[in-house]
Amino acid sequence: MNLIWFRNDLRLTDNPALQAAAAQGQPLLAVVVLTPTQWQRHGDAPRKLAFWRDALQCLSDDLARLNIGLRVLHADEFEGCAPALLDLCRQVQAKGLYFNYEYPLNERRRDRAVKRLLRSEGLRCEGCHGDLMLEPGAVLSAKGEPFRVFTPFGRVWRKEILMRDLACLPAPRPQSPLAIESDAIPSLGTSYDRQLWPVGEEAAAQRLYRFAAADLANYAEQRDFPALDATSSLSAYLNTGQLSVRQCLNVAYHTLGEHWLESQWVTELIWREFYRHLLVAFPDLNRLAPFRPEVEARLRWQDNPERFGAWCRGETGFPIVDAAMRQLLATGWMHNRLRMVVASFLTKLLGVDWRLGAEFFMQQLIDGDFASNLGGWQWSASVGADAAPYFRIFSPQRQAERFDPRDAFVCQWLPELASLPARQRQDPQISSQVRGLAPVIDYRAARAQALAAYKAAGARA
Ligand code: FAD
Repeated sequence: MNLIWFRNDLRLTDNPALQAAAAQGQPLLAVVVLTPTQWQRHGDAPRKLAFWRDALQCLSDDLARLNIGLRVLHADEFEGCAPALLDLCRQVQAKGLYFNYEYPLNERRRDRAVKRLLRSEGLRCEGCHGDLMLEPGAVLSAKGEPFRVFTPFGRVWRKEILMRDLACLPAPRPQSPLAIESDAIPSLGTSYDRQLWPVGEEAAAQRLYRFAAADLANYAEQRDFPALDATSSLSAYLNTGQLSVRQCLNVAYHTLGEHWLESQWVTELIWREFYRHLLVAFPDLNRLAPFRPEVEARLRWQDNPERFGAWCRGETGFPIVDAAMRQLLATGWMHNRLRMVVASFLTKLLGVDWRLGAEFFMQQLIDGDFASNLGGWQWSASVGADAAPYFRIFSPQRQAERFDPRDAFVCQWLPELASLPARQRQDPQISSQVRGLAPVIDYRAARAQALAAYKAAGARA
């Protein structure tokens, strides 16, 4: 008997650890370890936990069709994983355990501890790379160093990928029935919109195919317009592993033909890989340390709970910012363009520490992901790897004019503005009166203040 330990790789198809375990030719038993206290410490959103739990239930049903039972262990924190797994190995007389790696520091420490303990007991314990196309260490500069900026990383990633097998791994075949029943999976987190976020690898694949058929070819032109709904909305599925990056690349290849690898959508998938590689190459990032400490040490983040609260509630008085925050609060997801707009607004115009914004995002996002969230926030605050130049301060009004030209997105989330004449809806002074609040800042003054602060801190232009 061998164990397959599922974490954020909740799929049968294209799952390297599952494949490796099945290849041993022995009966398989699946296992998960619930670590609610650890997840709480990581600030995971209750709706993300509930989504993960339902995806796990779906996986358990799929596994049952292959006669693979799922055992549910409880450990509270990561530290408890290794002894709990060893106990199970002894109970069922397993010879080995297989899993797909996760890349944040705490997860890597947990996995090292599991490997150490199981191997010290003479058991096999193998990790595979199922969350990434290219594992950390596979994309390096000519000097053999990790990249600190995205463009050369992307160039090398694209070269390297051509040498890799893009064929997806099949789901294992059914095994002979075992006398081990699956455990019940307790409820986790709170409710989320199940219609918006159906679970399971079938639902994830459908979403991928729908996106490929309708929007992939026009992605580069349409991706920045939140009202068009023209991005894939696959992040939550990728982050829980209901879908693999390789499945996405295959679909890009078949849909786009010759130039698939250069496409903008593939670039976005490479950003996801870049941020994961950074976590491994620069471990301090995991502790929320600044990527450029010399700059951040001189930036004075402002302690202003009132302004921060207004941002969290979507009550800044800036319509595009507030509409985006309402989308986040209602659905657990926010369009990428708007994530950049609200993050720039919070860090640069309100002067609030990016860590508070990142934490709030994690508490809300159904696709909350430590690596991408950290990368996105540091980029937006101009303190990260390949960060936006410090003088890039998004003007909410200008962003709305460019990317929500008919106010369709703003009116969807702030319907109270629909009755205003078009050119007044995005004006913070006028729209705020209709909404019965006051803009939290004067844009021009805040922008000038931010520019001066970043310049004085020696930020990169
Ligand atoms: P698509 O546009 O269809 O892109 C395809 C996939 O590529 C996405 O599903 C995602 O996996 C990946 N991707 C796209 N853009 C990025 C990016 N900039 N960085 C890394 N990967 C990317 N993404 C998360 O998955 N979780 C987060 O917690 C998260 N927090 C963010 C916070 C900020 C401040 C910013 C600016 C970005 C953040 N992102 C995060 C990245 C990005 O906004 C989302 O991945 C994207 O909006 C998801 O929508 P989609 O699936 O329709 O993406």
